[in-house]
Amino acid sequence: MTTEPTAKASPGRAQTEGGTPSLKDRGNLFEIASRQIDKAVKLIKLDPDVAQILGQPKNEIIINFPVRMDNGEYRMFKGYRVQHNNILGPYKGGMRYHHEANLDEMKALAAWMTYKGALHEIPFGGGKGGVKVDPRQHSRNELERITRRFTAALGANIGPEWDIPAPDVGTNEQTMVWMMDTYMNVVGQAEKNSVRGVVTGKSVTSGGSYGRREATGQGVVHCITEWAKDRNFNLDGAHIIIQGFGNVGTYTARLLSQKGAVIVGVGDAGGYIANPEGINPHKLSEHTQKTGTVAGYRGASKIQREEFFGLEADIFVPAALELELGVKEAQVLKAKVVVEGANGPTYPEAEQILLDKGVDIIPDILCNSGGVIVSYYEWLQNKRSEQWDAADVLGRLEKRMKQTYANVRAYALANKCDWRTASYAIGLERLQNCYRERGIFP
Ligand code: NAD
Repeated sequence: MTTEPTAKASPGRAQTEGGTPSLKDRGNLFEIASRQIDKAVKLIKLDPDVAQILGQPKNEIIINFPVRMDNGEYRMFKGYRVQHNNILGPYKGGMRYHHEANLDEMKALAAWMTYKGALHEIPFGGGKGGVKVDPRQHSRNELERITRRFTAALGANIGPEWDIPAPDVGTNEQTMVWMMDTYMNVVGQAEKNSVRGVVTGKSVTSGGSYGRREATGQGVVHCITEWAKDRNFNLDGAHIIIQGFGNVGTYTARLLSQKGAVIVGVGDAGGYIANPEGINPHKLSEHTQKTGTVAGYRGASKIQREEFFGLEADIFVPAALELELGVKEAQVLKAKVVVEGANGPTYPEAEQILLDKGVDIIPDILCNSGGVIVSYYEWLQNKRSEQWDAADVLGRLEKRMKQTYANVRAYALANKCDWRTASYAIGLERLQNCYRERGIFP
């Protein structure tokens, strides 16, 4: 196990002209996440011993591994797996493939998974990992070898009762199937078929769950629907902007457009586009599948990143990377609500500006949890050798999302706090109760 040097926090954020800032300029994500959680720690007067335990991940694994490229050369890659906490159940969390992946990012993302599981009462702990690699620069064969070699190197650090990866930025169902197959082939013939649950987010053919693909976007849309009811706001004709048009952004856009909402702006790593008359999410999706980006889509005009945040819109869904919503973006944002499809998209300083402006924020650990909830259902199906139908899976998801949403709303009202603090407070109380009952071994 090794550690990496940490970056300094910079909420103002340096930006490249017309493009997106490098993760290096975004500050130390783990410190920023800790600052967010601190508000809830103070509110519930969290036991300092529990705060100390949750203040660091249990395990931080870094693996450097070689992979043969298509041209016959070998290249070294750096892989991560951070296991934050497992008092509520096995470590659980995504595997990210991104060229700027780093240890502090993984630590923050793993911690958020612990609080997400605790908030939604899913019997999982928190983990996160990935590989420092730009998947767009590699062929399918190279990505397969990277994934299989990384999985083999992780060895017993993952497992269906120990640590269960899932897709995240830059990974997908195919990545999960390669991970599962590699793991299956090293555990031994007799157990092979009993370890499908080593990863979730697999294709249905290879043991995945119906409904998992759209689960995160669906969860985001359930929260938006509940918010609209609370605010007496009509989603039919509402204007939406979405940053990130991958798994989360695409399904959020499709499901919102079914409710009559109009997508007026979209951005991704390749650029930003807008059309006040509306962007058809299905056609845009066909375009991104061919080109890998929303840029160049004929049904909209190209705009700059700064213009995107200032678009006339009612709802903003960040669904790209963390720390995209800084002070500058918060100042120009016109939306009534920010619904965090991405993990950690908002700087604490930007959040304060938004709250002062009267903008509602539905925090990540509440609203982007559809993925981990359906991952839990996938894991259960694998354990029981069952296959639930889509209506069953999505019905359970809806019930759980709405229940947690109502719990957070009630907690925030009763304690006069913002929704992020309420969400963390509920999760932290559950974790604290568990530590109180179980104590620390020995
Ligand atoms: P994805 O890889 O499918 O899509 C990521 C999108 O973000 C792409 O459109 C990409 O172009 C865009 N993007 C990347 N860098 C960008 C930048 N600098 N500026 C603007 N756009 C950028 O990933 P995903 O699975 O949709 O995940 C998106 C976010 O949602 C992440 O924060 C992830 O952790 C979170 N999340 C995902 C899931 C899930 O089930 N996939 C669940 C919960 C949370």
